[in-house]
Amino acid sequence: MKVERKQSVVLVPFLLQGHLTPMLQLGSILHSQGFSVIVAHTQHNAPNYSNHPEFVFHSMDDGLKGMDMSFPGLKSIYRMNESCKAPLRNYLVRMMEEEEEGDQLACIIYDNVMFFVDDVATQLKLPSIVLRTFSAACMHSMVTIFQQPEKYFPFEDSQLLDPLPELHPLRFKDVPIHVINNTVPEPVLDFYKRINDIGSSVATIWNTMQDLENSMLLRLQKHYKVPFFPIGPFPKMVPLASLTSILEEDNSCIEWLDRQTPNSVLYVSLGSLVRIDEKELIETAWGLANSEQPFLWVIRPGSVSGFQCAEALPDGYEEMVGERGRIVKWAPQKQVLAHPAIAGFFTHCGWNSTLESICEQVPMICRPSLADQLVNARYLSQIYKVGFELEVMERTVIEKTIRKLMLSEEGKDVKKRVIDMKQNIVAAMQIDGTSHKNLKDLVDFISALPSRLPPATPVVGAIMSSNHTPSKCIIESRS
Ligand code: UDP
Repeated sequence: MKVERKQSVVLVPFLLQGHLTPMLQLGSILHSQGFSVIVAHTQHNAPNYSNHPEFVFHSMDDGLKGMDMSFPGLKSIYRMNESCKAPLRNYLVRMMEEEEEGDQLACIIYDNVMFFVDDVATQLKLPSIVLRTFSAACMHSMVTIFQQPEKYFPFEDSQLLDPLPELHPLRFKDVPIHVINNTVPEPVLDFYKRINDIGSSVATIWNTMQDLENSMLLRLQKHYKVPFFPIGPFPKMVPLASLTSILEEDNSCIEWLDRQTPNSVLYVSLGSLVRIDEKELIETAWGLANSEQPFLWVIRPGSVSGFQCAEALPDGYEEMVGERGRIVKWAPQKQVLAHPAIAGFFTHCGWNSTLESICEQVPMICRPSLADQLVNARYLSQIYKVGFELEVMERTVIEKTIRKLMLSEEGKDVKKRVIDMKQNIVAAMQIDGTSHKNLKDLVDFISALPSRLPPATPVVGAIMSSNHTPSKCIIESRS
């Protein structure tokens, strides 16, 4: 039975699809636990209100009008952080003025890219919590690198395949940070420091599982010294049909999947941001065609440099593959991965796609491009062994890798391991499972937060311990 808590949480998502989705999912999870949910969002990439009638939405003037947002750079991110400050502060002040006894704003939960929220929360003495939308392994690699950047940068081309000190299984080429000429420019370094920092936030929520990433989480917790709540995987905790897409989903591909043999189709998608060149598109097209496996391929508008959409494909390509291949601009990915026809996922390894694939026990071909994708791909292929890494984008290599995943004994082993992984995740979500327990702890933690934090208020919270039993600790929240 749902408990009505008469407390609200304000969520502040970052505007990219891969960040918006987990924040909206977290909203649904907290709403199901009895909290009222308010989503304060940017005008750019505003969520579709009609998909979430249970939330209250507040649009903030983000200052981004007229800027090229096809791939948001540091300039737009800093401008947005500056522009949103006053709108959020004014909105919260109004909310607090209208509050009634016992019906209070409990806290603000924000994406770490929206770092301005820390300033606003501190000014208003409101407790804030950071949502981490990356894996703990990725965060750990960033934190480790930023503790001693000089140990990692600049590096030589000859070192690209060398292991990164203390970060097995990562190599220099897998650094999840924007590297230019084998080093990280100062402004980029500053930006990553900002998003790593949690300011005066009193806790961190993770879209991951303690059973999967316990050692990384424990190491990170020593660094951040606030309670951690790994309550994932979010995609499995909300209904399959819950919609969070910014682009329109083409549902006709589900009817196409219905006509395919069970466990036969490769789903191909590189997420919402990755852009490839024409050569890679053509090599992928021939790799898929020559593999002779059925495929569903998402070619997102703007995802091939210099082209609108799929016009860069070889002439007559779609006619040639016929019913064996289906190309769409944007798919209902969670439903696709859950479809019995799907046998594999050719993915860029964004964290949401990674979790969605594991949750539906779909093994992967990992073709990362940037940021956390590089770390996820290494963990998937080298540690969890539920995917094959694709490092050379040539048609023969692509064809061979697809056949390995879909047809070989090695492919069957990978499938078995992803089934095991999925079962562990499901176990974590059961009563007494770690994610279930961590969610309960999070709900108790938010419910008990002092709604206005005086200076240096101690916040009592659960610190994860290695045997999964939370022990109480006291954290100095503000100075
Ligand atoms: N997605 C989708 N339809 C598509 C491609 C992607 O719904 O055709 C969703 C996918 O389910 C995931 C999100 O977009 O939830 C992409 O997030 P991810 O972290 O995987 O990658 P990003 O887009 O941030 O690189």
